[in-house]
Amino acid sequence: MTLLPRIVKWVERGASSMYFHSRCSANMSSNERRLRVLVDMDGVIADFEGGFLQKYKENFPNEPFISLEDRRGFWVSTQYGDMRSDLCEKAISIWESKNFFIDLEPLPGGVEAVKEMSEMENTDVFICTSPIKHYSYCPYEKYAWVEKHLGSEFLEQIILTRDKTIVTGDILIDDKPDILGVEPNPSWEHVLFTACHNKHLPPNLSQRRLLSWADDWRGVLQSKRQ
Ligand SMILES: [Mg+2]
Repeated sequence: MTLLPRIVKWVERGASSMYFHSRCSANMSSNERRLRVLVDMDGVIADFEGGFLQKYKENFPNEPFISLEDRRGFWVSTQYGDMRSDLCEKAISIWESKNFFIDLEPLPGGVEAVKEMSEMENTDVFICTSPIKHYSYCPYEKYAWVEKHLGSEFLEQIILTRDKTIVTGDILIDDKPDILGVEPNPSWEHVLFTACHNKHLPPNLSQRRLLSWADDWRGVLQSKRQ
């Protein structure tokens, strides 16, 4: 982000947070409703599936693997376990390893899109991501990945949670088809981001999709401002 947009964002955020404390803020343009976009990390901006397959093949060169074209279902470990029961644990060992998350490549256009939407007027973007329960490396590496690819200013905009339903927002862009938690009616609209594991699901008229970051994500954001 260049300096001027950063200053504008800083002023917008400051004015927004002062809204309930200052009579003067009543005349500020920042009183316009702000759009809050939650962007998932794995499978949306970070290539979890590609990174997994590469390291799985390196670690277990003599074991069968599932190509990205043949991936079905959200849980990689479930599909590997269905192929042969011991492959479930072998799959899990890959993403529990040091440097798995930090080494993930960005998915095409994702970093650029997140940076662009964060510079839009009246728009707040948060990276909303679920760490794995084996926490030795994953939470640290997710922060490091964001700093590496999005910049240190984005460290203010990370939400690590195992339950995204309790986070408020207008849109959640996520590749997991079913996002469940303690809140039965989350505030956000879940826009399904297409991934190798979900592209074969039957069309769901009640759920919008982004086919990739080349798809019309700007139009999806705009639709929520009206
Ligand atoms: Mg994901």
